Parts: sequence; C-alpha cells; structure tokens
Amino acid sequence: MNDVNLKLIINHAKRYGFIYKSSEIYNGINGVYDYGPWGVEMKNNIKEYWWNFMVKLRDNIVGIDSSILMNNKVWIASGHKKEFNEYYIIIKNKIYNIKKFILLIFDIINNKKLYKKILILYKKKKIKLIIYKLKLIIKHYKILKYRNIKVKKINLMFNTKINSFLNNKYTYLRPETAQGIFINIKNIINSTKMKIPFGVAQVGKSFRNEIITKEFIFRTKEFEQMEMQFFIYPGQEKKWFKYWINNRLSWLYFLNLGINNFRIKKHKNLSHYTKYAIDIEFNFLNIYKELEGIHFRKNFDLKSHIKYSKKKIMFYNSKTKKKYIPYIIETSLGLDRVFYALLCKSLINENNRIFLKLPYFISPIKIAILPLISKDKKIIKISKYIYNNLKYKFNIIYDDKNSIGKRYHYQDSIGTPFCITIDKYSLVNKTVTIRYRDSMKQIRYEIDLLYFFFKKEFDISYFFKREIKDV
Ligand code: ATP
Repeated sequence: MNDVNLKLIINHAKRYGFIYKSSEIYNGINGVYDYGPWGVEMKNNIKEYWWNFMVKLRDNIVGIDSSILMNNKVWIASGHKKEFNEYYIIIKNKIYNIKKFILLIFDIINNKKLYKKILILYKKKKIKLIIYKLKLIIKHYKILKYRNIKVKKINLMFNTKINSFLNNKYTYLRPETAQGIFINIKNIINSTKMKIPFGVAQVGKSFRNEIITKEFIFRTKEFEQMEMQFFIYPGQEKKWFKYWINNRLSWLYFLNLGINNFRIKKHKNLSHYTKYAIDIEFNFLNIYKELEGIHFRKNFDLKSHIKYSKKKIMFYNSKTKKKYIPYIIETSLGLDRVFYALLCKSLINENNRIFLKLPYFISPIKIAILPLISKDKKIIKISKYIYNNLKYKFNIIYDDKNSIGKRYHYQDSIGTPFCITIDKYSLVNKTVTIRYRDSMKQIRYEIDLLYFFFKKEFDISYFFKREIKDV
C-alpha cells in the first residue's frame, strides 16, 4: 500500500530540494514558499507542458507576459476592489472562513434544507442575517461554548504604495493574471492577426492576502497561475465551454494522476465576474478540492473596462456588419496546485522504498550519469564523454560521490527516470547499464545509441498530435 501523508510530502519536498518554507531562518512567513533547485526545474517543466499545449501548438492562441503592478483603476473596473472579499468568523482565538464554518455547523446538525437556505443567503451576501441564524442554530443545538461570534470582512488584494507625486499613490499586487490580458486586448489585436475565436494565455504570479493558508502549497499568498482567456462570438459560449472542459481534462489526465481522481463540480458560489463556472476538482490526499476553474465570464470585464477607461474596445463582425463585445471563456489553473497534486500522487512509499514516480516529461532531471568506480580515470573519461554529449539535449546530472545504492536512492527521491552506470565493461564493449526508476529493471545499451533511446522515451509529441486538433 502507498502510505503517503502531508507530513511525508512536506519533509520530502524540503529534504530533496523541491520546496522550502520562505524566510525559514527568521521562523518563516505564513503561506509563502520557495522552490528549490529541483522544484524550479519541475515547475518549469509543468509550465512548458502547459505552454506547448495551450499556445505553441495552436494557431489560434497567443501568449503575453503582463505586469504584476497595474493602474489601480484596473481593479476598480474589474470589481475586485469592491467584491473580492472573504468573510471570516472569529470565535475566541479561532478563525474560520465563513463558507467552511457553515459547512462545519451543518455537518454537525445534518439539516440539508436549512443548509441550502443559508447558502442562498451567502450568495446574496446577507452576512449579518447568516450570522444571526447561525447564532440561533448554535444556541439551539448547543454546538459551541462561545457564543460571542465576530465577523470580519477582508479584501484579498495586497495593497502597495507607489512612490509618486502624481495621482496614483497606491495600487495592488494583481490577484489574477486575467486582467493583464483584458486591458491589452486592443494592443494584441492590432499587433497580431488574431481573429475571433482566439485566445490569449499567460503564466505568472498572483497574490491574495489569504488568512487561512494551512495546507502547504495548496493555498498560499503568492502563487502562480496559468490562465487562458478565449474570446468568442456571443451565443457560442456553450460549445466553447464544453470544448475547454474536455481539452483541459485531457491535459490533466496525461499527467498520470489517475482519471478517477478528478471530478467536475458546478460552481454554486459564483464570483462577481462569472455567469457560470465549473471547478475541476482533484482528490488531494483523499479530499476533493479545486484544481482548475473554467469560467464563462460573458463580456463582464471588457464592458467594464470600456466604461471605466472610456476607450472603445469593440470588435467588428464582418458578416453581420455590427460592432459587438466578445464573450470570454477562461481556463484558470494554479501552477502550485498541479505541483502539489503531482507530489500527492507521485510520491510512492512502498516496501521500504521511497521514490517519486513523476511522468518523465515532468521530472526535474531526466538522466543521471553515475560512474561505478570513481577512481578509475578511464571510466571517468568515458562517463564525462557521455555526460557532455547528452547535456545539450536533456536535463542531466553527473554524480560520482557516495555508494551506488545511495546515489540511486537520491535519484529515485527526486524522480529521475533513468540512471546510467558506467563500469569496466563499458571500456571493452562500449555499453552502459540503464536503470529504470519505477521497475528498477536494468538493461545494457550501446553508448552511441543512447541519444536515440532517450529521445524516444521523452517524446510526447504523439499526445499533442492526438489532442490538439484544428478547431
Ligand atoms: P479557491 O476556491 O480554492 O479559493 P478560487 O475559486 O478563488 O479558488 P480562482 O479565482 O478561480 O480560484 O483561481 C483560479 C485557480 O488559481 C484556482 O483553481 C487555483 O488553482 C489557483 N488558486 C487560487 N487561489 C490560490 C491560492 N491562494 N493559492 C494557490 N493557488 C490558488
């Protein structure tokens, strides 16, 4: 049985150079993490996989890299300044997110009808009424000792000051990457040949001043998003919404996280900009939670930017000869959450052996070159020859320190799919041993053919060819 829990994941991620707590030498900072040497490689591989799938291999999607700091009017227009709030319940010294608190209470009293009523109130943001009702429930069912419930509303955006003598004295760190796309849409249209339907993608940092950030990198204050905004003719939203759910699912399935570990959940608590939305949930350590969101944003954002900026961001339909504002389908995935999902499912603890069974294309290091006898100059020479030949093609590592058992263990722990050992027979018959990470099977292989062997092993173009069809 695979016996993996959060503690093991956190310890493994630290011990093997994936993720460290930020500012650790100063006792850390809540909900902020640093990615170590293997973490950054793995992150880059996830990004590359996403970028290839969403941008590089499609004619109808381009990418951008917009700034984190924007004019503060962007966040007034987007509705984040007014609406991007979270409500927290404080009882004695404990803080609960209101949604979680409601769930907690109704789990105890098991009254679905009442639960639904409270959710409707939540949707309407009738927080005072909810608290009143919750207090009555708590009293009636004698659930909690402390009836002194306080509520706090907190805007999730980080304020930041801009040193200037002009108008803008403050702005926010962006809480989503999407707005950078919307405010640039005119520039993108004018500088490319994109025609509706088309998409704009971006990968970048977002910041949310989340208070409850307990579960490692699942919810953090600083995180990366991989978002794509797809611009369509009004009326075509059903078709494209379905198209993007299927496309995103196939991207996720290919990460080998287990098809049965995903489920789709219709959004009940819609954010201020969505007309309808679904979450792709993933079974993180036996609890299903949001991994990616697919949102139909209608034309909320563009309409609002037209209103606030007073610029004409209109599109022209040459068939109907009418101006219109396109609708938008958004796919929004947290890079750190995919990273976490991969750790949850790839860390294998079986029969006294721990290894990271990552898909090959996600592994930080693809091949480790391990000379068996580190003092033999001829073996070192041939090992370096192999290393120098392959390092321009694949991300590889050379290691001649410690026993071979320890070296295998380290490579298994960072998820390296193949280890090459060079021994005295390599000098005679120009072959090496290739060891497979998952099965630990070993084969002899010709040195001159290594490149072709690995090229085949790491090639995933068949997946892209199968999934990215002309639309
Ligand atoms: P949640 O319900 O978990 O707070 P959300 O619905 O607010 O998420 P969106 O605004 O739709 O999330 O953001 C899109 C994606 O960005 C999410 O599906 C998630 O993968 C990621 N994400 C959002 N907030 C965080 C966070 N604080 N830390 C890490 N990733 C996040």
